[in-house]
Amino acid sequence: MPCVSTCGNLYVRDTHIAPKRHGTHSHVACHGGMDTIMIIDVHTHLSTREQWGKAFGEVMDSGVSGHASMDLEVTPERHWKAVGPASRAIVFGINSIALGMHTPDEAIADYAAAHPEKIIGFMSVDPNSPEPLAQIDRGIDMGLKGIKMSPVYQHYDPNGDEARKVHERAERLGLVILTHAAFHCIARTPMQWANPLHYDRVARDFPELKIILAHIGLPWHTDAMVMIRKHANVFADISGGVLYRPWWGYQALAECHENSVMHKLLFGSDFPLCTIQQTIEALRGVNRFAAGTGMPCIPDDQIEDLIHRDALSLLGLT
Ligand SMILES: [Zn+2]
Repeated sequence: MPCVSTCGNLYVRDTHIAPKRHGTHSHVACHGGMDTIMIIDVHTHLSTREQWGKAFGEVMDSGVSGHASMDLEVTPERHWKAVGPASRAIVFGINSIALGMHTPDEAIADYAAAHPEKIIGFMSVDPNSPEPLAQIDRGIDMGLKGIKMSPVYQHYDPNGDEARKVHERAERLGLVILTHAAFHCIARTPMQWANPLHYDRVARDFPELKIILAHIGLPWHTDAMVMIRKHANVFADISGGVLYRPWWGYQALAECHENSVMHKLLFGSDFPLCTIQQTIEALRGVNRFAAGTGMPCIPDDQIEDLIHRDALSLLGLT
């Protein structure tokens, strides 16, 4: 059976982001007396090009990543403009001793404090840094609500002693962990720690810890699906992959639909790598792979639910 589009999108304030008419009314939120459509972007970056570091910049410029000519300079002003379509946005930098990446937590906290109605700041903690727990305490004092981590960028075992200390502290303090649990094409990043299955033990040992597996684990999306199905407090964001790896993105969503875990997927753009609008359009086009074939479609209403999901309630960040 070919896929049948039931597209009948509402247009709101010149943006093509409104839910389809069959979407649930709970997606409509009211802020400041003006009806807006809920979009929570759980994955955005704020870093200058210098802060992204040399290795990351080189792989972006080389074209190997598929992101040549990407503008990595994200000032607060540029970020603020980019999250215009969102109701709320989580923002972070990346700190990595191994790759020379560093965005001060203070820069994230200052930006978040300037826009408390929309911006939620996360710190970036490298478990290999000298005092990660002291950094967490400082981040809490600055008003940051979660921790961006990455075994790939930061070269650590998610179940190693250093990471366990961070996970334990985050669970105790109610901080959300957003972790890169997907591949990366920087040659010296350690792929043995990239797979989402590493978070099976993390989630069993720290069952109250809210974990977001970034990029739906691509290309290990089946493993990410298993994690979010198995563990109540493990979620996955769809950032990046659905736009830039649409075949993987389609398979990931089809598997999540077949296994009834679409409700564990969170909307994220990975700005500046993708915009909110690009991500929405990629999600709405994902069923093109199934058109005219016997492959499964993801129902339109479930795509709309994903775009307009109240991730902050799920993560305890309201
Ligand atoms: Zn990212």
